[in-house]
Amino acid sequence: MQSLSYDRARDVDHAIELARQPGAKFIGGGTNLLDLYKSGIERPLRLVDVSRLALSAIEELPDGGLSIGAMASNTAAANHPLVRQRYRLLSEALLNGASTQLRNMATVGGNLLQRTRCYYFTDPAFKHCNKREPGSGCDALDGHQRIHAILGASEHCIATNPSDMSVALAALDAVVHLQGPDGARQVSIHDFHRLPEDRPQDDTVIQPGELIVAVQLPPSPFSRHAHYLKVRDRASYAFALVSVAAAVDLDGDTVRDARIVLGGVAHKPWRAVEAENLLRGQALDALDDAALARIGEAAVAGARPYPHNAFKVTLAPRAVARALVIATGIATGMTGGKA
Ligand code: SF4
Repeated sequence: MQSLSYDRARDVDHAIELARQPGAKFIGGGTNLLDLYKSGIERPLRLVDVSRLALSAIEELPDGGLSIGAMASNTAAANHPLVRQRYRLLSEALLNGASTQLRNMATVGGNLLQRTRCYYFTDPAFKHCNKREPGSGCDALDGHQRIHAILGASEHCIATNPSDMSVALAALDAVVHLQGPDGARQVSIHDFHRLPEDRPQDDTVIQPGELIVAVQLPPSPFSRHAHYLKVRDRASYAFALVSVAAAVDLDGDTVRDARIVLGGVAHKPWRAVEAENLLRGQALDALDDAALARIGEAAVAGARPYPHNAFKVTLAPRAVARALVIATGIATGMTGGKA
């Protein structure tokens, strides 16, 4: 039986010092790590408990943005008055994630580091998983790919990122603040998660021993017209088949700026830049069914489905259209009327 040591960090510097030990891993809420440890997927030798660090504050920044401490619970972030008022996408995404009990335990930092729910990754009975054992192959390629990626996958891995929160953070241009053995650095949320390429074992660009200390949000023009739509197999406590963070900034009745980010379709939150470009400059009354369909199709341009997930190529554009209808309040025939 493998032994496991446990240390509680006093402060960030102490946590980083403790994490220099071989086989060390940070633990916050533990909602993902403990599951993976029990099934033998994660095999840390030492746990460095960072859950009591003074990193749970949620506070306004001088420029009008918001800083969310990495140890803030998902519940605290979702319900914070400033998040609800100015970053409703984030609140809606968090409240769509997991169960109340899990949200109470899960931290914002931990949510960013959630590992994929690919069945072949989480069940060690399957022997071939490049994310678990680099070079071993990918059982999903010839398996059941219902929950897998249609965009940005590689021959080495077709897994998806499971985080709702990260999809909203991508739409809000969040910045991840890290501290590690070589000091502090900041990484745009758009660069934080990786596509699998030939290194699917690396979900993010975080380096060994680095700790997420905060997520910062710039002032957002998307506080009024935004919606997070999650399509899943059951109404709660299920990961997204497809999700959409949609937001528009209006100049009168014309779209000045837009964000469309998809979840459940790629190894990272998938920003649909072509779809956003189609939206910019559009008058709201020009957003009829045909225009929404074009925007939705642009969001999945270049999709490469597998035998069991081709439905996502149809589902995702419809989800984009529906999310935009709700975000803008427009009425169309296709999406069932004014939201
Ligand atoms: Fe592993 Fe990725 Fe293949 Fe799933 S899709 S079995 S996580 S390599």
